[in-house]
Amino acid sequence: MNPRLRLGTLPTPVEPLPRLSARLGCQLFVKRDDMTGIAFGGNKVRKLEFVLADAVAHGAKTIITVGAVQSNHCRITAALSAKLGLHCILVLSGSPPENPNGNLLLDYLLGTEIVWSTREQRDEMLKQTFDEAWAAGKRPFLIPLGASTPVGTLGYLEGFREFIQQGVEVDWIVVASSSAGTQAGLVLGAIQAGWNGRILGISIDHKASVLQDMVAELAMETADRVRQKVRISRDMIRVSADYLGDGYGIMGQSEKDAIQMFAREEGLFLDPVYTGRAAAGMLDLAANGFFKPHERILFWHTGGTPALFADSYAGDLV
Ligand SMILES: *Cc1c(COP(=O)(O)O)cnc(C)c1O
Repeated sequence: MNPRLRLGTLPTPVEPLPRLSARLGCQLFVKRDDMTGIAFGGNKVRKLEFVLADAVAHGAKTIITVGAVQSNHCRITAALSAKLGLHCILVLSGSPPENPNGNLLLDYLLGTEIVWSTREQRDEMLKQTFDEAWAAGKRPFLIPLGASTPVGTLGYLEGFREFIQQGVEVDWIVVASSSAGTQAGLVLGAIQAGWNGRILGISIDHKASVLQDMVAELAMETADRVRQKVRISRDMIRVSADYLGDGYGIMGQSEKDAIQMFAREEGLFLDPVYTGRAAAGMLDLAANGFFKPHERILFWHTGGTPALFADSYAGDLV
């Protein structure tokens, strides 16, 4: 009923982080979804295994999606489209920089067609791009922001199952959360497995109540898709929105500190938009006694590292 294309390099490793653990006084692990394989990896690979299978099943020849200039989702969609021999059109908010860098450079290398838009007109431009491709007989398939549809969320339902099979027991999963698909899939997976631990989403750009509603609703819709009867309400979704800083994509001192600390203690790279912010939140919570001393915490790395090489962040990082 829900076809899947095996596009990622899975399972991804779970690794202990001994030096960071010693610093924080708790037991810390990382799930390496920055290593999902194709095009520098990231969480969108798991979602797109299902979404692109759906697209192919619908006879799609052109994949259209949307994001910011440094969108990881767009870069991975472009790479997987190339691998599947599908044309890809990205509707990006912003304007073309003189020297493309980071994710955008990779989009160009992948031969992607790019349509530029202002942030305000992006949805309209997306619809227009789709209509034009349809009229031209290009058999377009539209993937919404972050591939956070019930179909895409199946990727993280499976991702949770994969983690459980790896047999590493933890009390907490901490994960960056923005368009809700990753957290919704993990939450549904945890319910299915009868898992005892807790999942904390560090909000990247929404206030807590908004993100909780998004995650709960998407988890319910995804449960429907796999014909599972569950009730998931907002109060079952753990979210912290204390680390929004100056807004989406704006890297502050705490993100820089987290990126440097993970690199210097563990040789592990985070990204400036998502995992840098989520790790900064986790470090702050740990420093303030949020986790009990004996608790084991898994940081679910969602990728995004090519954005480190974007001029907009690189110059600020060191
Ligand atoms: C898209 C993205 C996220 C957020 O995942 P959602 O499913 O949209 O909540 C987190 N980290 C990285 C690196 C991403 O690219």
